[in-house]
Amino acid sequence: MKKVSLLAPGPTPVPPRTLLAMAQPLIHHRSSDFLEIFGRVREGLKKIFKTDNDVLVFCSSGTGAMESSVANLLSPGDKAIAIRGGKFGERWTEILEAYGCQAVNLDVEWGHAVKPEDVAAMLKEDPSIKAVYVQALETSTGVNHPIKELAQVTKDTGAVLVVDAVSALGVYDIPTDEWGLDVVISGSQKALMMPPGLAFASIGPKALEMMKSSKCPKFYFSWAKELKSQGINKGAFTSPVPLFLGLLDIFDLIDEMGLDNIYRETEIKSKAFKAAVAAWGLELYSKENASTGLSAVEAPAGIDAQDVVGWLKNKYAIFIAGGQAQAKGKIFRVAHMGYISEFDTLQAISAIEMALAGLGYDFEMGSGVAAAQKIFGEA
Ligand SMILES: *Cc1c(COP(=O)(O)O)cnc(C)c1O
Repeated sequence: MKKVSLLAPGPTPVPPRTLLAMAQPLIHHRSSDFLEIFGRVREGLKKIFKTDNDVLVFCSSGTGAMESSVANLLSPGDKAIAIRGGKFGERWTEILEAYGCQAVNLDVEWGHAVKPEDVAAMLKEDPSIKAVYVQALETSTGVNHPIKELAQVTKDTGAVLVVDAVSALGVYDIPTDEWGLDVVISGSQKALMMPPGLAFASIGPKALEMMKSSKCPKFYFSWAKELKSQGINKGAFTSPVPLFLGLLDIFDLIDEMGLDNIYRETEIKSKAFKAAVAAWGLELYSKENASTGLSAVEAPAGIDAQDVVGWLKNKYAIFIAGGQAQAKGKIFRVAHMGYISEFDTLQAISAIEMALAGLGYDFEMGSGVAAAQKIFGEA
């Protein structure tokens, strides 16, 4: 069996010490020891989200928390803007429609960021719109949407801003309270370096107020029920105890590293990788606001990006991601977030070079590795 390298934008590698922290004899989720652990998880999350709001923990993948932000804020028939500049933006529309809400779609060309003034115009034209749903990092295109500016737009309206930061939290600074983000959602398996299975939602005062009149059906993902229960350090249902233990270890690790250092290291890996892309004569799919959390790269003309992804997987057990929907076959995506080192990044670059050469692309072998080494050497 080959050593597996996870270099796709989720799930990302889990630090070995965190894996060991999870490999403990199970304790009961209602024991006093676990209540204490739950309390530390709540406090640790607030530090990473940079908020005094309650941050709820759900046992689900990130989409569960996304769904909860529709079920707990809106009522059937309510209108909400879904900013759709990629696959995850489209998910907002799907969730809204599943709950009988009216999705007002703001379509953004893939590879581009939403313009805050377009959202402002829509809210002005229709003040009955109750929420704006957006991604901090649209993982399918590698683009950051301007969430700070969007919060300025929604601030003085009746609408709440719901930010999907599943792939963004831990990649760049997202000060929830300072920017006035009403709801911020995240998940465990991206920059937070954990296995999949936990989702988070920070809920600000404006969202709490809106929650009171929400009539969408909800049971497992009820914010009111969880706020009451998690307020005394108990999940409403059985908590995934090992994942909580892992998360506490991640908090220690983040404390040791410092959040700002983590953002900066992610930036350097991104810069090095993007220098390699330029050296190959290729282009990023993200035409503006390119994220540092991952790189989305356009495959050379005549080469199917899925073949690059398949080459890495089949020959080297290196997992990168392809494009989704309209970008399928056109792009491949490599993560820089979380527990991925400079040398993991060089490994990805080197493997992609072998794949591109094998697939018949004409370029100078080693040029990407050299360009990235230069960036790492100077950092
Ligand atoms: C990964 C991801 C999600 C959540 O996906 P799950 O498979 O439910 O964990 C949501 N939004 C974005 C932007 C993501 O990158």
